[in-house]
Amino acid sequence: MGTAGYLDKLNDNQRAAVEYGVAGDAPAPPLLVIAGAGSGKTSTLAHRVAHLLVNGADPRRILLMTFSRRAAAELTRRVERITAQALGTGIAAEALLWAGTFHSIGARILRENATAIGLDPDFSIHDREDSADLMNLCRHGLGLSQTESRFPAKGTCLAIYSRTVNSEALLAAVLQDHFPWCGGWERELKRLFGAYVEAKQAQNVLDYDDLLLAWAQVMADPAFAAHVGDTWDHVLIDEYQDTNRLQARILQGLKPDGRGLTVVGDDAQSIYAFRAATVRNILDFPGGYEPRADVITLDRNYRSTQPVLAAANAVIGEARERFTKDLWTDRASGAKPRIVTYATEGDQARHIVDQVLEARETGTRLMDQAVLFRTSSHSVQLEAELTRRNVPYVKFGGLKFLDSAHVKDLLAFLRLSRNPRDRVAGFRVLQLVPGVGPKAAGRVLEALDLTADPRSAIAEVPAPPRATADWPALVEALTTDAPWPAALSLARAWYEPHLDRLHEDAEARRADLLQLEQIATGYPSAETFLTDLALDPPDATSDQAGVPLKDEDYLILSTIHSAKGQEWKSVHVLNAVDGCIPSDLGTGTTDDLEEERRLLYVAMTRAKEALSLGVPQRFYVTNQGRNGDRHVYASRTRFIPKTILDRFEVTHWSPLRPDGAPVRAAPQPIDVAARMRGMWAD
Ligand code: ATP
Ligand code: MG
Repeated sequence: MGTAGYLDKLNDNQRAAVEYGVAGDAPAPPLLVIAGAGSGKTSTLAHRVAHLLVNGADPRRILLMTFSRRAAAELTRRVERITAQALGTGIAAEALLWAGTFHSIGARILRENATAIGLDPDFSIHDREDSADLMNLCRHGLGLSQTESRFPAKGTCLAIYSRTVNSEALLAAVLQDHFPWCGGWERELKRLFGAYVEAKQAQNVLDYDDLLLAWAQVMADPAFAAHVGDTWDHVLIDEYQDTNRLQARILQGLKPDGRGLTVVGDDAQSIYAFRAATVRNILDFPGGYEPRADVITLDRNYRSTQPVLAAANAVIGEARERFTKDLWTDRASGAKPRIVTYATEGDQARHIVDQVLEARETGTRLMDQAVLFRTSSHSVQLEAELTRRNVPYVKFGGLKFLDSAHVKDLLAFLRLSRNPRDRVAGFRVLQLVPGVGPKAAGRVLEALDLTADPRSAIAEVPAPPRATADWPALVEALTTDAPWPAALSLARAWYEPHLDRLHEDAEARRADLLQLEQIATGYPSAETFLTDLALDPPDATSDQAGVPLKDEDYLILSTIHSAKGQEWKSVHVLNAVDGCIPSDLGTGTTDDLEEERRLLYVAMTRAKEALSLGVPQRFYVTNQGRNGDRHVYASRTRFIPKTILDRFEVTHWSPLRPDGAPVRAAPQPIDVAARMRGMWAD
């Protein structure tokens, strides 16, 4: 087989990982590649898949799992390019039928095998917000109302539930370690979670965690596990450090002897402990198989210049423990990373846009630059500044309109038409009909539950007494058998009058719905569309009309979590201040702090050449209602202590007055009382 070319530019260890066991008759024994950021792990994984294909592996029998749909698509495109180089005509990315996230693959396995494992194949998938809403319904059902008893908010309840499920731990331990302020509610939470699980079952609903939990549960049956595991000869996983115990168990079930298994990752980049990911998975991987899995490490960084790498190494060098060693690079030239202080977040936004445009002037496309931040809401000021100055951008996973009421209405309608037992969707949709309140909606949904075939029963349930003439239209729309994606157009047609009735800005919202429809046409079925939207929403563009920016140049905005695995020539990190990275100072345990340190490390190691960290001295925190939203006075993140400050160039920036003199920030009156409240809250 002609393999020359693509193997040549790999270093020895990369090549060993790519070729590992490929020549053998059977799939290779398990392999772990563990190495630091930018050492070519993902690149090695892509080459390994290509090498398998070039050597005759069946693309339909390869399972590729990574942490986002975007990362999976990028991986398959790389495989296509490499195989094209080797074979003339490449193996098309689409031929790799099984590339995605653990959750999306789980959804597919469960849907395809639903009847065999006792699930109704029409199950709906709840996103985090739907899940919180269902949690809320259960909370009210049990009388655990928040206002009366200071019971934890629905989002907190869901976070506790999710962490307990994913870590396979006891509720008491999770409460003690991560939610100590909720410790007194253990009994009530147990009841609540019991009710929540029952509700999901009764309503034929799976939440995000169930996709792993149910998958792991059915894998406990060896016959079923073998059946699923036999779908693939090779299972390859990127970013393995961010998997949790359920995922490790699923993997064990798929390939009990580990043959065909390749996992790659970096323990220093583990940043999903809040979803119960555990770095133990990667550290324990070799010993989980008999004989032990082979381990290959990589020690050269190809991504960053020496000064960027030195600064990142210094940050992670302070970590309490880690397995992967520092890397070396021969990209010697380049400036030190910068720490720029600002009086305000507004200054930070202005200066970053200045720098981005300057870099574009000198030949760095917008696409080769990124601005990263801790939480999606931190980019608000920056987005406003970019819009004001006409700089196009794409925000990863930020399709904001998905959170808006009208889009949720329409998606809930689609879900309800497929699964009439879905209460969260049901309450939302039925109450769109004037005259139908929560009580009436509840009665209709209960009546449906009692029928064997709730879908056709909708037509027979008597209309609620005060429902207007719009009721029959709803029933008709819910029960049509229109094919996909015409079903969505019909749903929209049904929804239009409600849109006009409910919203003054119906025109703008109509544009969102059209955009939604456009996205939907890219999907083969309503199920795949709804699954993707629930699990991994598409990226948002700055272009309000939603026209895809194909050939256009645009800046990337991303949370640090979503930037994992990627790289840009120039990277700006927003708000590198205490209270933001690390966040949540009040409640952080040592483990939580260590995770925040790794988060900063992940952000810094995205940069190839230029890196700047912004330190606004006043910034705004939204704290999900716990402490309330407020301005805080901030200082440079504790992860860059004085001892390593020599790895950076530290400057202050303030805007110039029209006459060229620096503007003196007006002294801000300090609200001492508010600061004290902030310090003592919780
Ligand atoms: P991360 O930990 O951030 O996910 P990674 O270890 O997966 O990083 P890659 O993204 O695969 O690293 O590679 C980093 C960069 O180094 C990419 O631009 C890649 O093309 C380049 N690279 C990897 N290996 C080599 C090599 N042998 N020769 C030249 N460039 C390489
Ligand atoms: Mg990678």
